[in-house]
Amino acid sequence: MEERLIPICEQLVEACKRAYARGIQMNSGGNVSARVPGEELMIVKASGSSFADSTVDGFVITDFDGNKVAGEGKPTREALLHGLIYRLCPNVNAVVHTHAPYSIAYSAAKKPLVRVTWHSQLKMNADLPTLDVPAPMVRPEYFYMVEEVLKENPELPGFLLVDHGLVAMGKDPINAEHTAELIEETAMVTILRAAVTKMGL
Ligand SMILES: [Zn+2]
Repeated sequence: MEERLIPICEQLVEACKRAYARGIQMNSGGNVSARVPGEELMIVKASGSSFADSTVDGFVITDFDGNKVAGEGKPTREALLHGLIYRLCPNVNAVVHTHAPYSIAYSAAKKPLVRVTWHSQLKMNADLPTLDVPAPMVRPEYFYMVEEVLKENPELPGFLLVDHGLVAMGKDPINAEHTAELIEETAMVTILRAAVTKMGL
């Protein structure tokens, strides 16, 4: 890994460990990435490792089509989605994708995730679309769904994938991870509020 990219990798490691500690990514799923400054390249997590065991060596460099140009290991299968986001959103420098339980549960509603808390309204500029991608990863045939929502709002903080998880974007890996936590918190609160209303409390 080039020396200048090490601090970015360290932030990616921190984002992974924080996401695991907060329970927004268990097991070995999920992935994170960051844009290589000034180039049409990205740093992505190699597949197969858990967020909990993330290290600076566990990342590879690929182009925006997910083709590896440097590093050990295989790029994550979902690198294509990350590349698409970097192409469409010039201000996005990092992407955090996790299989966060409340976000996945809420995605079954197939409705946008509304910012029900004041904090979510302050921190996110729009409600989050829920994309009904009928596959375990966002392959090119489903890119149009992502393109549609990002062209409408290039500053969109994130979106949900039905029965899959959340995708959060940010100016750096820590910022994107915080947004991932906020999306999960919003989904959790939405579900608990619905339960409270149903109980007539
Ligand atoms: Zn996934």
